[in-house]
Amino acid sequence: MTVTPEREKALLDSLNTGVLIDGQWREASTGRTFDVVDPSTGKVLTSVQDAGTEDALAALDAADRAQADWARTAPRERAEILRRAFDLVNERAEDFALLMTLEMGKPLVESRGEVVYGAEFLRWFSEETVRHYGRYVTTPEGKNKILVQHRPVGPCLLITPWNFPLAMATRKIAPAIAAGCTMVVKPAKLTPLTTLLFAQVLEEAGLPAGVLNVVASSAASEISGPLLQDSRLRKMSFTGSTGVGRRLLKDAADNVLRTSMELGGNAPFLVFEDADLDAAVKGAVQAKMRNMGEACTAANRFLVHESVAEEFTRRFAERMAGLTPGRGTEDGVDVGPIIDADAREGIHELVTEAVAAGGEVVTGGEKVEGEGYFYRPTVLTVGNDNPILGQEIFGPVAPVTTFADEEEAVRLANDTEYGLAAYLFTQGFTRMFRVTERLEYGMIGFNAGVISNAAAPFGGVKQSGLGREGAAEGIEEYTSVQYIGIADPWAAPSAPAS
Ligand code: NAD
Repeated sequence: MTVTPEREKALLDSLNTGVLIDGQWREASTGRTFDVVDPSTGKVLTSVQDAGTEDALAALDAADRAQADWARTAPRERAEILRRAFDLVNERAEDFALLMTLEMGKPLVESRGEVVYGAEFLRWFSEETVRHYGRYVTTPEGKNKILVQHRPVGPCLLITPWNFPLAMATRKIAPAIAAGCTMVVKPAKLTPLTTLLFAQVLEEAGLPAGVLNVVASSAASEISGPLLQDSRLRKMSFTGSTGVGRRLLKDAADNVLRTSMELGGNAPFLVFEDADLDAAVKGAVQAKMRNMGEACTAANRFLVHESVAEEFTRRFAERMAGLTPGRGTEDGVDVGPIIDADAREGIHELVTEAVAAGGEVVTGGEKVEGEGYFYRPTVLTVGNDNPILGQEIFGPVAPVTTFADEEEAVRLANDTEYGLAAYLFTQGFTRMFRVTERLEYGMIGFNAGVISNAAAPFGGVKQSGLGREGAAEGIEEYTSVQYIGIADPWAAPSAPAS
């Protein structure tokens, strides 16, 4: 059922839009606010306190003060806070879904999917909290002992992007809580509201003051700059573009900070001549159109064997042309808007350049007239040297090109500085193993168009980043290994019995 304006207003009015420091919702020290805009209308939804350097440092003060006690809490206590947060997010699933649709644009059905996905990190890490083991072994020489334990790394700076407002927050905040770290969170300027609601939920779940501090800001470097120079900060976890990530890594080098970097992608989607084409077309629509193509894992280049390219392209284009753009709160909508006017312009420029370089539009290729920043789902056929294949499109545009054999497919797939996700459609298991061993990617979808899961290690190689989120690996990003060398207990003079 289409959402009423009254329901939207009631949800927006109920939000706490301040800066959260040490358990207090405050006004920003800058005296500024910034607007949050609905990309499907271009209209302002609400405004948020605009934090600056003073707030960032106050947030780190609070995180630093809370760190020692928080690190000593029982794992069960941290686990139960996460589990309560999981239940509360689910109880408020419709509020979270609507808020994401309003500030980010994705259709409600996709926002509901993100609530399920994002909440799962809370449940997953609540379970990991109490099963985070060290080890105790005898040295190879057989005398001394080695004790290995995992200590919380310390206060963290967590920077999230706008495209998955809940899941990108829970994927960082949940393992940080599980490991016993305190944190300063800076959500994306375009979509801060979901993080603010999530912070309220964590307070309700019993998270102590100071563990989570939230500073939304229109001036990201006023937050990250001073924090990265402050030796009390022990870790940065960033999700966003490779360009910004590279700059932040350089800044983080001054204090030799622990970093987790989830950066951009340029995912190839390989369709071999023996693929099940029904599955490949379905997977292609999912891998391209989830989140309007605004996903780091979005299929960005469709590499199809020349013997099936025509049929694949025809069927894929038919499915893309049948998708209905519109405001995500309305019934029957499949595709939301692009996040803002500049991003839509950038996508259209990529299409225009691709056509100028010899590409052909099979469907779409244009903006949707009217309010909001909509773009038609687009399929292009291009030569395999077309410039669009070298860019992260981050929109509903699918360039299709062909390959002649497996060798060429692998070469084209790896021909990028990115290495986040790749998709592979073939019915041959031996080919699957052979090709995946040669693909330089952190994540591979085998006959699957959607691969994200809280239980799977998410992350890339090459310039797609460092570290992993989710799975057993996710908590390790927030711990430091401490080793204790224990002298041979048999060599010690025997102590008197106590
Ligand atoms: P972005 O790099 O512009 O911004 C990401 C975050 O960094 C935002 O919070 C932003 O405010 C902040 N930021 C920007 N400039 C900064 C600076 N100078 N100092 C400190 N913080 C700064 O990215 P985006 O447009 O929000 O997100 C899209 C990008 O994120 C795409 O490249 C996408 O592939 C990537 N992404 C990657 C993953 C992943 O897990 N690998 C997931 C989602 C998105």
